[in-house]
Amino acid sequence: MIGKGILKGMAVTAHNFVGSYFDKERLITVQYPEERNPLPENYRNFPFLVYDGKDPNAGLRCVACKICEKECPPQCIYIIKSEDKKPDYMGKPQFYPKVFDIDISVCMSCQICVEVCPFEAIKMDKEFELSRRERFDALLMRKDDLAKSNDYYRRISPTDAAEVDAKLTAAAEAAAKKKAAAPAAAKPATPATSSTSGRPAPSGASS
Ligand code: SF4
Ligand code: SF4
Repeated sequence: MIGKGILKGMAVTAHNFVGSYFDKERLITVQYPEERNPLPENYRNFPFLVYDGKDPNAGLRCVACKICEKECPPQCIYIIKSEDKKPDYMGKPQFYPKVFDIDISVCMSCQICVEVCPFEAIKMDKEFELSRRERFDALLMRKDDLAKSNDYYRRISPTDAAEVDAKLTAAAEAAAKKKAAAPAAAKPATPATSSTSGRPAPSGASS
């Protein structure tokens, strides 16, 4: 019958419309911006730079290696490496970005910068209310805008952040173990002596 499909569709709409007054599950819209639906954990938009501790400058993980700058498909990352070094989270002196800009009007949220970073220093954010009235550099995010704490990362991406924390803790522990073992290894081995003369025992000599 002509129009049967239309009537069927309207019946479904009417059923959901009336049902939404009684069943919250049927209400799929919210009164944004007062109300917000929770974002899925894997939601992503633009990158940010992670820092450990409380101080964004001291704790910034980025060592200005520029891999992300080279790999970014639309070339929207701009980095100037420092001339001096600062200690990283393991106390190792590292360069840091004197300038780190991302033009988010160009960024296509591909996450390649995150995947190529060897230092877990750049991650994808969930912030999406970033519209600006100005056309030009208002969407150029500077290092200070991009720096966000690891606690923030743990809040927005708990699963990924826990994996990264475990990886970095294991790396720090392995480095500490290696450092502790180094002085012992550096000490010259006490030469084996013959029981009678006190001279080193020749190789292959039996007692
Ligand atoms: S998400 Fe993609 S486009 Fe955006 S800065 Fe990273 S690599 Fe570049
Ligand atoms: S964010 Fe990562 S890949 Fe990019 S410069 Fe810093 S350390 Fe290198």
